[in-house]
Amino acid sequence: MAERLVVVGGDAAGMAAASQARRRRDPDELEIVTFERGHFTSYSACGIPYWISGVVPDRDQLVARDPATFRERYDIHVRLRHEVTAIDLGRREVVARDLAGGGEVRERYDTLVYATGARPERPEWACAGVAGVFGVQTLDDGTALLDWLEGEPRPRRAVVVGGGYIGVEMAEALLQRGLSVELLEQAAQPMSTVDPELAELVSTAMRGVGIVIRTGVTVTDLRERDGRIAVVDTSSGPIAADVVVLGLGIRPNSALADAAGLPIGPTGGVRTDRRMRVPGVPGVWAAGDCVETLHRVSGMPVHIPLGTHANKQGRVAGINIGGGYATFPGVIGTSVTKVCDLEVGRTGLRERDALAAGFEFVSVIAESTSRAGYYPGARPMTVKLIAERPSGRLLGAQIVGWSEAAKRIDALAVALWNEMTVDEMTALDLGYAPPYAPVWDPVLIAARKAVDALTR
Ligand SMILES: Cc1cc2nc3c(=O)[nH]c(=O)nc-3n(C[C@H](O)[C@H](O)[C@H](O)COP(=O)(O)OP(=O)(O)OC[C@H]3O[C@@H](n4cnc5c(N)ncnc54)[C@H](O)[C@@H]3O)c2cc1C
Repeated sequence: MAERLVVVGGDAAGMAAASQARRRRDPDELEIVTFERGHFTSYSACGIPYWISGVVPDRDQLVARDPATFRERYDIHVRLRHEVTAIDLGRREVVARDLAGGGEVRERYDTLVYATGARPERPEWACAGVAGVFGVQTLDDGTALLDWLEGEPRPRRAVVVGGGYIGVEMAEALLQRGLSVELLEQAAQPMSTVDPELAELVSTAMRGVGIVIRTGVTVTDLRERDGRIAVVDTSSGPIAADVVVLGLGIRPNSALADAAGLPIGPTGGVRTDRRMRVPGVPGVWAAGDCVETLHRVSGMPVHIPLGTHANKQGRVAGINIGGGYATFPGVIGTSVTKVCDLEVGRTGLRERDALAAGFEFVSVIAESTSRAGYYPGARPMTVKLIAERPSGRLLGAQIVGWSEAAKRIDALAVALWNEMTVDEMTALDLGYAPPYAPVWDPVLIAARKAVDALTR
């Protein structure tokens, strides 16, 4: 009889695990069943802001593989609209509710992959079910938001609550659709993924395109008129709104795992070892936004929910389940985003992270340009480096600039991953031609400045 792999969650991590296991084991050896409570598999939540803005015209473009493709090409069976409600580790069974039909099914497993993603933060005021208030976690959320934006009366005033990268991307998307946009942020600045000096550049750029940013503001309530959102009440007064988008942060979706008795780490994510096995629970694996992972610079467990990690972790779990050998070595917190034409990249530790991890460090900010100063289209680029004192080892880097900025962070991520010092970095053989960089690339200029700061 074939063994059975059951996967809970049919997106990046879950389907990467299922696909990799299938590459190594035939259907007569391994049966694979995925439970997914939503309407889609292998979809790109990352693309939602660009679909809402209209840059990506069609929702189907965000779906990499649908259940029919998984069944026909890979013999992976997806039970769509089935929510797993319990995991019985003793009996090796999952219990799921059919969200369409209402019935309950039980499925035996030999191997289980827990890949339920993250759940969005929802304070009490956001749970009242006011019409016109949306999250952007799933394609169903995106569909509901688009229906509202295209419906009558046509919304004109949008309020985005939360200034993380999703809030910032959604503010841009709504602006591009022609709405007036106000972004509310509880902290002193939006875009806290970078240090305040660089976040300030992002705020300035957002204001420059017409997004109103209100900081130090807490939402206290939502009010409706005629059954539709009308007012967002805040600590600094009421704001009129025809649509509200929530980007309040997310937490690991680990409640089901916790209830089943899987180990949960200090960040709230499911604990795994390097092979993505759940320690102490034979046959159970976990991957993606529901797990915590190791930060390679701080050495601390972290929850950094990104598609790039979910895909890699799912792949690692699937290779191991298929009989191969793979490990996930941890993360360094690299991410990129954009707001209108401004690009933002970061890797490693911010100053506050370096302090929390107990490092002594210097930090420098270097101003440069994206291309040779004389070459048409050269735009300002700001690079911040954080280096350990006295070793000079790179601890973190951030870049904000107008063009060719974001992906420059990858060179810095590679340096950081390989524990290079800023001194070693000054000699990096990076590409140069006037249309692409000044003769001293902004990355090299920043490294030189960090070396100076260390020797001072
Ligand atoms: C708007 C937005 C923009 C983003 N942009 C980026 C980006 O630019 N770069 C980047 O790296 N990352 C980005 N991300 C993050 C990225 O989308 C996630 O990290 C990635 O989707 C995580 O994959 P996952 O499989 O772990 O979880 P998910 O994609 O959340 O998938 C988990 C699946 O499990 C299902 N599920 C949960 N519980 C159950 C249950 N009990 N039973 C059955 N099914 C269940 C859910 O319906 C879901 O489909 C973005 C996310 C959003 C929302």
